[in-house]
This record gives sequence, C-alpha cells and structure tokens, in this order.
Amino acid sequence: MPVPKNRSNSVRKIHKRTPKGGKTIHYVRRVKGNKHACGLCGCHLQGVHSSRKLPRSARAPNRKYGGNLCTACSSRVLVLRSRLKEGAIKLTDVDVIMLRYVK
Ligand SMILES: [Zn+2]
Repeated sequence: MPVPKNRSNSVRKIHKRTPKGGKTIHYVRRVKGNKHACGLCGCHLQGVHSSRKLPRSARAPNRKYGGNLCTACSSRVLVLRSRLKEGAIKLTDVDVIMLRYVK
C-alpha cells in the first residue's frame, strides 16, 4: 500500500522496469495550473507549453503576441495598429478590450 500522500488522484503512477527485471512504481505529481488562453476571446492557445525543460523559444509561438493572443485576435490587433499608425481610425474607434494591445 502506498503512503497516504501518494494515494491521491493528483499523483500519477508510473510503472518502471528495473535493470534486474523487477517492477517498481514511481509516483509523480501532476502539473497544476490553468490552460493557456487568449487574452481577448479566451480560447485555448495552441503551441504554448509551460515546461521548464524546454528553451524559452520553444514555449510559445515566435510571433507578435505569441503566447498572449490567438492567431485571429492577433491579426485583428495588428490591422488596427497599422490603421491607427496611418491615421485611418482614431483611438476612440477601437474596442476598450483591445486598447491594451493596440496602444
Ligand atoms: Zn483570441
């Protein structure tokens, strides 16, 4: 019987084979935390990993707003940014939610 701390569902059982041919069980805590979500629409962000073993460049997509916004929202923000820069629209025309990223 495992010790009480390892009887929880938040502990994963991993069956390992020892060099001699025997079997042991390793107990590994499951990773806590929320899924990565888009800052505007809240959808699940793909290609984002929080593992510390990966290099920083492999943890999120290497583009503007990578790891913060989904592709649809980031393209909308980039279009608004360029229109603001050219003077086609004013800052008051932009949604309040998007101001954080457009400014
Ligand atoms: Zn989004």
